[in-house]
Amino acid sequence: MLIVKKFGGTSVGDKERIFNVARRCIEDYKKGNDVVVVLSAMGKMTDELIAQAKDINPNPSKREMDMLFTTGEQTSVALMAMAMDYLGVPAVSLNAFQVAMHSTNKYGNARLKRIDTERIHHELDQRKIVLVTGFQGIDHYNNYTTLGRGGSDTTAVALAAALRADACEIYTDVEGVYTADPRKVKDARKLKEITYNEMLELATLGAGVLHNRCVELAKKHGVQIVVRSSLNTAEGTIVKSATSTEEKVAVGVAGDKDAARIAVLGVKNEPGVAFKLFNLLARNNINVDIILQSVGRDGTKDISFTVTEDMAQETVDVIRNNFARSKYKDIDVQTKVAKVSIVGAGMVSHPGVAAKMFQALYEDGINIRMISTSEIRVTVLVNEEDMEKAMNAAHRAFQLEAE
Ligand code: ASP
Ligand code: MG
Repeated sequence: MLIVKKFGGTSVGDKERIFNVARRCIEDYKKGNDVVVVLSAMGKMTDELIAQAKDINPNPSKREMDMLFTTGEQTSVALMAMAMDYLGVPAVSLNAFQVAMHSTNKYGNARLKRIDTERIHHELDQRKIVLVTGFQGIDHYNNYTTLGRGGSDTTAVALAAALRADACEIYTDVEGVYTADPRKVKDARKLKEITYNEMLELATLGAGVLHNRCVELAKKHGVQIVVRSSLNTAEGTIVKSATSTEEKVAVGVAGDKDAARIAVLGVKNEPGVAFKLFNLLARNNINVDIILQSVGRDGTKDISFTVTEDMAQETVDVIRNNFARSKYKDIDVQTKVAKVSIVGAGMVSHPGVAAKMFQALYEDGINIRMISTSEIRVTVLVNEEDMEKAMNAAHRAFQLEAE
């Protein structure tokens, strides 16, 4: 069997944990498997590199940031190779350049395009464990790029697809995917399995356990992922195309504080304004999430939408500078809001899921500011201070549903 295993930063945070990971990989290797291991930077190293860079230059170039970032993952794989060698097992560390992991050239947010598998196969043929740096690629001119924070998951899935691996295991500091963040919702349970679509929604909506692009890629290439703990041997969660159990109405609740609500007030009530507004935002690469249009007064309407917090100011500037002043009265920004979502592939065939969620929020006295739904998701916007309460309420409601 060819197994791709990925370990996150906390799993390789110190000497003891490095040896723990080394032993777990060696166990698979000794059973005769080919083992490819993807590692993240140790502990908080990536954050520390950012702090170090900003101390030198508050506005570092993105190319040099990526050059700097790659040292984090490179440290992990080199130390891991030494640990395995110390334990008597041959291992070799490879970075994105040595493997040749080709990516687009968008520094800090590159996408992997193609992975050369020759070097890896060559090393596996020599019966070595192959250690690959997560989170990085090289562009057309061999500049290092990175795949965005948390991107090592994506490296693992991309490698599993390119190598046609028999298994792709993502090891982390929690035991799998939960129905909600256990630190926020005390009744949260670990899921046995979850579909790509559900996982994609949860990852995008703020459940930090997997990088959303990694799920997208896994779905595209049909790579089955197991998410499990590096600290114990508990069974993890399987992420795959369809689950064997009957489709549940809802599988999880996610909360995300990284949202800002922009309201464009007193917009002229004439055809084409919504098009002009959102076209303007799209042309400026501003990603809009929930949209709400409400009936206004005197031939006007209000259009509200959400963006991530770091885009709030830019969004306001873009509208102020480009949207004809005669078309609206005012703009209002509110950053102290959070999104709470309930996700499940079974929602399509079960009416009343949204109503049940709203009832639970109402019972707990939580005010809903905006609502958005898709076939497998209901999202509400609430005040930031209500987020955890809302997550708990939604979780309670959906457990009722699951019975
Ligand atoms: N080290 C990178 C980060 O902290 C990539 C990763 O951990 O997946 O974002
Ligand atoms: Mg991660």
